[in-house]
Amino acid sequence: MLARLRSAPQWTAAAAAFAVIAVAAVTTALVAPGSPAAAAHAGVPHLPGVPAGKDGGPSGRPTASGGSAHAPAHPAAPPVPDTIVHAAEISGPAVNITIDDGPDPVWTPKVLAVLRKHHVHAVFCMIGPQAAAHPDLVRQVVAEGHRLCDHTVHHDTGMDHKPFAYQKSEIMDALQMIETASGGARVSYYRAPGGAFTPASRALAAQHGMRPLGWNVDTKDFDRPGTQVIVNTVKSEIHNGPTILFHDGGGQRAQTVAALDQALTWIKGQGYAFSFPKVD
Ligand SMILES: [Zn+2]
Repeated sequence: MLARLRSAPQWTAAAAAFAVIAVAAVTTALVAPGSPAAAAHAGVPHLPGVPAGKDGGPSGRPTASGGSAHAPAHPAAPPVPDTIVHAAEISGPAVNITIDDGPDPVWTPKVLAVLRKHHVHAVFCMIGPQAAAHPDLVRQVVAEGHRLCDHTVHHDTGMDHKPFAYQKSEIMDALQMIETASGGARVSYYRAPGGAFTPASRALAAQHGMRPLGWNVDTKDFDRPGTQVIVNTVKSEIHNGPTILFHDGGGQRAQTVAALDQALTWIKGQGYAFSFPKVD
């Protein structure tokens, strides 16, 4: 096909680019989802002997970096380490607040108001379609100094047991939706729903500038155990590590809003500073 095109009088650089893209698309379609070839084609190092499964623990397995024949789709975001981060960017006692499963038109503004009141910046792990449905909220989150995190399209906590091609679409489609909704802001982290990371999905996220993001304290606010129980979980588990998980999506979050307000007051009173999780 290329030889014939080259002899054609209408041959242009644009046509060449189109041909390359078309060939790449066909090649991608021919690669079986989840196969080592699929991982290699996607620029993700294949990791033999590493079982698929949740690896959201404190010490994410270091993996080889590089080896990609493909330029990242988002050149503005340089590759980052693919290990799961929990640590704060600043030294000394610090806490990273992370807010998952939004944006939500009712609860995200209330969470933002609490954060504003305490002068605290957080990471918002967003569901792609919700970001697409509420671009005003995504832009407000960015404008108020918070950071964005890709939390996939469908929040499938079993995605680590599904083919890599599925994991890739969950991550990359959500990234596209969040970036578009934000007006092009950087998405700095990727958090797998329920910690359903795999080595290949972490590598993919990292190639696109998104550091895999874990957590140390699950406030279990999602289950609405009561405001005081949520606050007490923060108090009793804060020694686990700096990254604390709350939710602004997934249901009625009045307890979260009240608990976050109290928890931030308590955390500050204990002498902790507020930070972001490390990206680089
Ligand atoms: Zn979630």
